[in-house]
Amino acid sequence: MKTTPRICVIGAGPSGMSVLYQFAEMGNMPNVVCYEKQKTWGGIWNFTWRTGLDENNEHCHSSLYKDLWTNAPKEANLEFPDYTFEKHFGKAVPSFMPASAVKDYLEGRWKNGTKIDLSKYIQFNTVVRYVRYDVDKEHYVVVVDNCKENETREEFFSHVIVCAGIFNFPNQPELPGIDKFQGRVLHSHNFRGATEFKGQTVLIIGGSFSAEDIALQSIKFGAKHVILTCRHESHHLRWPEGVEERPFVDKFDGNKVCFLDGSEMLVDVVVFCTGYRTHFPFLESKLRLSEDTAPYPSGLYKGTLLVEHGDCKLFYIGVQNQIYSMTLFDCLASWVCKYILGKLPDEPKSMDEMLKDVRKWEADGQKVTNPIEMLKLHTTLLDDISTSSGYTKDILKAGPRFMEWLQHRTDDMATFRDHSFRSIYTNTLAPTGSPFMQAFDDSLETFKKC
Ligand code: FAD
Repeated sequence: MKTTPRICVIGAGPSGMSVLYQFAEMGNMPNVVCYEKQKTWGGIWNFTWRTGLDENNEHCHSSLYKDLWTNAPKEANLEFPDYTFEKHFGKAVPSFMPASAVKDYLEGRWKNGTKIDLSKYIQFNTVVRYVRYDVDKEHYVVVVDNCKENETREEFFSHVIVCAGIFNFPNQPELPGIDKFQGRVLHSHNFRGATEFKGQTVLIIGGSFSAEDIALQSIKFGAKHVILTCRHESHHLRWPEGVEERPFVDKFDGNKVCFLDGSEMLVDVVVFCTGYRTHFPFLESKLRLSEDTAPYPSGLYKGTLLVEHGDCKLFYIGVQNQIYSMTLFDCLASWVCKYILGKLPDEPKSMDEMLKDVRKWEADGQKVTNPIEMLKLHTTLLDDISTSSGYTKDILKAGPRFMEWLQHRTDDMATFRDHSFRSIYTNTLAPTGSPFMQAFDDSLETFKKC
């Protein structure tokens, strides 16, 4: 006998909100509850000055910092087909925007993009502590804590959608001698703004977007000298004066850093931009993903449905290394909602077929070695999911915009955010805003005046 689904969504960041939004767009809301440990929606996009623990003494979720501007053009990974930036702001706005404007846009879609009040389906200040599958009863047991009421409850669900984010639990390697370093040592998760580095020499460890952005932020806000170092080969980016790349660290000797090429440098600050762990401690072990972030995490059909150890009723959204972001989450959410409600145009496959498909994607994911290859993989994934769910294929037009953006970054890190892109949906070319390196006001009010 088929039972009516009761669906649990964990997290009200962009991924979880896309699930609620896509359910709403299908007509009647099913029986769905979203648990969010923060006091409001938005996930990473809720800036907090806190580090370590939040106001409920829970692990502080957000890794956002002051003066963070989007690292890719909004026309490539942020713009929703049914809620354009022009619609939201009432005019065309620059391609790169401060975090305050991203949050404003997302909230605009969640509040005004659909007729249903999505907030009614979210329980804020509520932490999911534990999820296990009860094989006999064929349901998930979800233990939640309401932090404000100090109340623990057990709830039962037919489906669980994990949208808890993957950029919150730092990956922090040990380096020889770092324990004797006398200056400030932090992970990018706890970085809240670069003004504190004014006049200092900053060592940044890591080779991805966070490392590159914090290097740029540091020099923009007055650091004396910034050294970037990572284990893998350099991306050969052109940096403004004051930023240099060096081979990886051999060891620390007091406040002196010894690099593998034999060079040395005294530094004041060490920032680990060494990424994050995909850490979902609230799931019983067989439901968890590997902690290593990956372009295509193992065991997920269509990049979302846990097939290997699951009962095909637990989903993940937003767990791939990200290049596409909001549009990928939204497309995945549309697939998941239709799958749960039995509205996918094509019938779900047998377990064997699904596993075969998963193995192929995993193998393709393992071949990815750089952002261009990841872009290609995720464009193919989006193509596949949108074919299955009926989500608009227009999102695939983002591919060339990403390629252009990657080239701008290689040409000049200081100016790549000064370029303008055309909206896929309105075809309007974005106006130029203040040059990024001279923009010292990240407020929504100033952005709206652009
Ligand atoms: P999150 O935004 O992390 O939201 C997850 C939610 O789950 C949170 O609200 C959290 O409180 C909640 N949660 C977690 N655990 C529990 C629990 N146990 N119980 C209840 N609730 C829980 N993307 C871009 O597109 N452009 C950018 O410029 C960009 N810049 C970024 C800069 C930084 C520093 C970082 C870290 C990420 C950036 N990203 C960017 C990527 C960002 O991850 C995505 O934009 C997006 O926020 C991911 O959405 P999400 O909903 O999957 O996860």
